[in-house]
Amino acid sequence: AGPREPAADALLAFTERLHGTLIAPGDADYDGARRVYNAMHDRHPRLIVQAAGVADVMAAVTFAGRHALPLAVRGGGHSVPGFGTCDDGLVLDLGRLRGIRVDPSGQRVRAEAGCTWADLNHATAAFGLATPGGIVSTTGIAGLTLGGGLGYLNRRCGLSCDNLLSADVVTADGGFLTCSEDAHADLFWALRGGGGNFGVVTSFEYRLHEVPDILGGPTFYPLDAEVIRRYQALIARAPEALGTILGITLGPPLPFVPERWQGQPVIVVLTCWSGPTPEDDGIREQLDGLGPVIGQALQRMPYPVINTLFDGLLPAGLRHYWKGCFSGPLDEEAIAVHLEHGARIPCLETATLLFPIDGACRRVAPEATAFAYREAAFATVLGPSWRDAADDERHLAWGRAYYRALQPHVEAGGYVNFMSADDGDRVPANYRQNYDRLARIKAHYDPGNLFRLNQNIPPATS
Ligand code: FAD
Repeated sequence: AGPREPAADALLAFTERLHGTLIAPGDADYDGARRVYNAMHDRHPRLIVQAAGVADVMAAVTFAGRHALPLAVRGGGHSVPGFGTCDDGLVLDLGRLRGIRVDPSGQRVRAEAGCTWADLNHATAAFGLATPGGIVSTTGIAGLTLGGGLGYLNRRCGLSCDNLLSADVVTADGGFLTCSEDAHADLFWALRGGGGNFGVVTSFEYRLHEVPDILGGPTFYPLDAEVIRRYQALIARAPEALGTILGITLGPPLPFVPERWQGQPVIVVLTCWSGPTPEDDGIREQLDGLGPVIGQALQRMPYPVINTLFDGLLPAGLRHYWKGCFSGPLDEEAIAVHLEHGARIPCLETATLLFPIDGACRRVAPEATAFAYREAAFATVLGPSWRDAADDERHLAWGRAYYRALQPHVEAGGYVNFMSADDGDRVPANYRQNYDRLARIKAHYDPGNLFRLNQNIPPATS
C-alpha cells in the first residue's frame, strides 16, 4: 500500500506526543532541516521529526508504519546515496541525541545515535581512550558503525562494529530492546555490518582502547607503481599499531607541498601510528622508504585531531558519487588501472582511498558478524566529490569508467557504506555467505520492510 495522508487529528496526536520538533513544508526551518551532506539529494519530505529522545523515536516509527510513510533514518546525514532523506515521507533525524557516557575504568562508552565522531573522539580522548571510527570527524557514528566502520585504528582494534558491545534499538513495531551477544544475539549480529535495515539504533555501547597521542599525517609521493608495491610490502610486515590508508589524489595547495606538485596527481599515505613514541623515527624511515617524498606533515597529535584533517576539504554541501569494492592484494594489472585513472583525477576534493582489511579485522571470522569480507586485502572507495552541479557529468563519467576498469581485479561485493544509490543490486554480493541469514533476521524484525531507505536487504519470504 502507498503512503496514506495522515488525518489532521492523527497528526495532531502525533505532534502532542513528541518532545522534539516536527517540521513540515512551509515551516521556516524546513529547508535547513531537509538538507543532507551530499548536495546531489534535494528531497522534500512530508514530515521531519527532530527526535528529543527514545520516546520520540518510538512514536515516529509507529506513526510512519501506521501511515505507510517512507521512513528515512538520519544519524550524521553523511550517506552518499542520500538515504537520510526522502521525498513525501518522514525523516527521523536523530541529530539532537548527543549524550555520551564514558566508563573509563570499564573501558566502555555509550553514545547516542546523533553523535558524530568528533563528539565521541573528544569525549573518550579525555581519558586517553578511543574506539575505531571514520577519518572525517563530521560523519555520524550511527551509519558508519552499522555498515562496518573503516578508519585509522582498524589494524590494531578491528572495525567500529567489532567494538560494539550492545545497542539500544527501536524496532519496526515501535518497540524497544537492547541487544548484545547475550540478548537478541541474532539482531546484534546483523547490526554489525548490515546497515540500517533492522531498526533504529538509539545508542551504541563500544569497547575502548588505550590510544594516547599518535604520530599522524599525510606523506605524498609521485604517482608511481613502485610506491604502491612498497606500500603493500610495508603493511604486510608493519606492527598493527600502524594505521594507514593509501590514497590517490591531487597534490594540495599546502605549504609543505612544493608548488610544482600542487594540483598534480600524487599518491598519499595517511598514517596514524599509535605505538610507542620511541619508535616514531622507525616509522618515519619506513615511510621515507616508500619512494621519493614530495611533501610530508607528520607529527605527534591527539588522536581526535587526525580525524579532522580532511574536515575542511570536505564541508557539507559538496556533491558526491562514490563506488566501493573489495579486492585482494593489488597485482601489476590492478596497479596499472589505478595509475591510469588516478592520473586523470578530476579535482582536489576527489580521492581514491584503499583501506587495508587486516590485523584485528582479520581475526574476526567472516560469519561472526554481518561484515563478510574479512579476508579482503583492501576496501577501496573511488570517491568523486566536487563543488559545482555543472561538473556532474565529468565526475560521474570518471568514477564510472574507473570502476568499470577495475572490475576484473575486484570482488563482486563492496563495503556497504561506500556504495551509491545505483548499487542496490550488489547488496547480496556485499554480504556473501551471510546474506541469507540477514534476510531471515530482517523477516523477523522488519517483515514489512519499513526500514528500506538503505542498501536494502528485503525480508526473506520463506
Ligand atoms: P546518515 O546519512 O545519517 O545515515 C546513513 C544510513 O545509515 C541511514 O540512511 C540509515 O539507513 C542508517 N542509519 C543512520 N543512523 C541510524 C540509526 N541510528 N539506526 C539505524 N540506522 C541508521 N565510512 C567509513 O567506514 N570510514 C570512513 O572513514 C568514512 N569517511 C567518510 C567521510 C565522508 C566525508 C563521508 C560522506 C562518508 C564517509 N564514510 C566513511 C561513509 C559513511 O560510513 C557513511 O556515509 C555512513 O552512512 C555515514 O553515517 P551517518 O550517520 O553520517 O549517515
